[in-house]
Amino acid sequence: MDLRYPCPQCGRAGRADLVEEAAVLSCPHCDYIGLLPLDWQRDLLVTRCPMCACPELFRDARLDPRVWIGFLLGGLALAPLTRFASLAAAAAAGLLLRLAVPERLVCYRCGASLRGHRRGTDRGRFDARERDRVRSAAPPRTARPPRTPRA
Ligand SMILES: [Zn+2]
Ligand SMILES: [Zn+2]
Repeated sequence: MDLRYPCPQCGRAGRADLVEEAAVLSCPHCDYIGLLPLDWQRDLLVTRCPMCACPELFRDARLDPRVWIGFLLGGLALAPLTRFASLAAAAAAGLLLRLAVPERLVCYRCGASLRGHRRGTDRGRFDARERDRVRSAAPPRTARPPRTPRA
């Protein structure tokens, strides 16, 4: 599974390809090493966030709507020149791209995201009230500057 996460120590974006037996995660930018919760997934079905163990995750829209709107605006701009063929082409290209982008699971609490998981039926779309509830109950670990080795 493809994991993207904000490092709890240095705050920079990290990326990891998690195998099923993965137990530790190390940040490529600093000396952070995190232990993954043992039960974060079962047969590629994600039960909790591997970074912060939060069980509240949401399914992310497959494609950023701005990309889709950009396609349509581009097609519209060229429409007078192409007798509107460009508009149809842009709509078709946007639709294909939408289907090609795999869905992500995103953690409400720390913002880590996962790709390549098996789909469950229990995850909803993003809900701002749910995010506020999760974050007020347990705020994400704030990014600290990387530790400097003692001389
Ligand atoms: Zn780091
Ligand atoms: Zn998390």
